[in-house]
Amino acid sequence: MKVAKFGGSSVASGAKIAQVINILNNDNKRQVVVVSAPGKRSKSDTKVTDLLIKYANLTLRKQNCEKIQAQIYARYAEIGKYFDLSMQGLNEIKALINDLPTHTFPNRDYLMAAFKAHGEFLNAKLLTMIMKKQGFKVRLLTPRQAGLVVTGSPNDASVNPETYVNLRNLELDPTEKIIFPGFYGISPSGNIATFSRGGSDITGAILARGFTAELYENFTDVDAIFSANPAIVSHPQPISKMTYREMRELSYAGFSVFHDEALIPAIQAQIPVNVKNTQHPERPGTMIVPETNFKAQHTITGIAGGKNFAALYLHKYLLNKGAGFTLKILQILDQHKVAYEHMPSGIDDITIIFKKEDLNAELIDQICNEIQVSLNPDQMQWIDDYAITMVVGEGMRDKLSLCASILYPLGQKNISIQMINQGASQISIMIGTRRGDAEEVIRTIYQTFFN
Ligand code: ASP
Repeated sequence: MKVAKFGGSSVASGAKIAQVINILNNDNKRQVVVVSAPGKRSKSDTKVTDLLIKYANLTLRKQNCEKIQAQIYARYAEIGKYFDLSMQGLNEIKALINDLPTHTFPNRDYLMAAFKAHGEFLNAKLLTMIMKKQGFKVRLLTPRQAGLVVTGSPNDASVNPETYVNLRNLELDPTEKIIFPGFYGISPSGNIATFSRGGSDITGAILARGFTAELYENFTDVDAIFSANPAIVSHPQPISKMTYREMRELSYAGFSVFHDEALIPAIQAQIPVNVKNTQHPERPGTMIVPETNFKAQHTITGIAGGKNFAALYLHKYLLNKGAGFTLKILQILDQHKVAYEHMPSGIDDITIIFKKEDLNAELIDQICNEIQVSLNPDQMQWIDDYAITMVVGEGMRDKLSLCASILYPLGQKNISIQMINQGASQISIMIGTRRGDAEEVIRTIYQTFFN
C-alpha cells in the first residue's frame, strides 16, 4: 500500500480536490491519504492555517471573531458547494469552527495549536464526506483515534515512538481508503499539538513508517525537485532520483519542497518518497531513496543556497597551541543558548557560522564582548551578510579535481570565497561567501556542471 499526502495548494479549492479524488481513484494502492489545510488559491490568497492563527489571536485578545469565522468557513463552503454537499455537512463544519473558543486549553500555546490543527481536521472531514457522497468506501481517521502521540512544545512537537506501535496495531481494510488530517498529534495529556509549519509532510512520513507502506507519495505543486532554485537559474534540470542524504543536505541550505523533519521516519523505515505534481500526476516527479544500491547519474545532484547566515571571525597568533580556546567559545554560546552551524578553523583562525534567525543585535554584542574579555583575540570581526552554498551529490565521492572545477570559475568572476568546507560529508561541499555573491555562485556552479 501507499501513503499519499496532498499539500495545501493541492486541496485549496473544489476543482483541486476533484483532481485529488481522480488521483486516488487511479491507484487502489493509495490507501492512506493525508491532507493539509486549504492553502493559497492565488499568490495574494491567505492559507487557512494563517486565518486560524489570526482567529486564535483574536480569541486570546477576547476580540470579535465573527468576520474571521466567516472567512474560514467560506473556504470550506466553497469546496463543499463544488461537490453539492448537503447543508447538514457544511453546518457541522461551521459549528466546529465557531465553537473553537468555547473549548478549554491548558494555556495559550495549546489554544493556538488546537485552532491551527483544525485547518487539517476540517479538511479531512470534508473530503471524507465528499468521497462518501461519491460512493467511495472511505473513513476519517484522526490522530486521536490512531494514537499519533507527540511530545515537545505544543506548536513544534515531535512524534513519540509509541505512535508506531499504535499504528501497527490498527487493522486496515484494503478496500477502504483512510483520510487522515496532517500536521498534528495528541500530547500525553490528551491535548492537540502541531508540528512546525509545513508539518503535514511529517504526518505522511509517520504513517508511511507506521503502516510499512511501499511508497510515500508527496503531492505538491511542482513537477519535481529541481537541481537549483528556478528563481535563480532559469529552467534548471529536474532531479529524477536522489538519496535521503542528498535531500537532507540540500534542504539544509534552502530546498524547501519537502519538510526536512519528514525524512526521518522515511529513513528509519527505508521507505522511498516520491514528490509529485498534483496537476500532472502522470509525470515521474522526484524519487528520494535509500543510499544502498544508489547509482549516481551525475557528479552533482543539486546546488542550494541559504542567505540568512552570519559569521564571527577570530584570529589569534598561536591559537593552535593554546588549549581550551574553542571550549571557551562554546561555553559562552551555551550560556546564551545559541547554537552554531559550522566552525571551520585554521592554524591561527577560526570562523563560527550562525543562523541569523537565532540572533539579535543585543545578543551579538554580548557574545562578542564576552569573547573579547575571555579570549582576547588579536582580531575579531562580525560578518553579518554571510551566505552558504551547498553543492551536493553522491557522485562527488572520490572525484579528484572537483574542488578546482567548482572554485576556478568563481575566481574568474572575482567572487571571493570566505570559507570552504569539504570532507565531513563526502557528498557535499559547503561554500561561504558574502550574501551579494550568493546567487552568482549558484548560477556559475550550475553552468559549469549542468550546461
Ligand atoms: N497547514 C500547515 C501549514 O500551513 C501544515 C501544512 O500545510 O503542512 O503550515
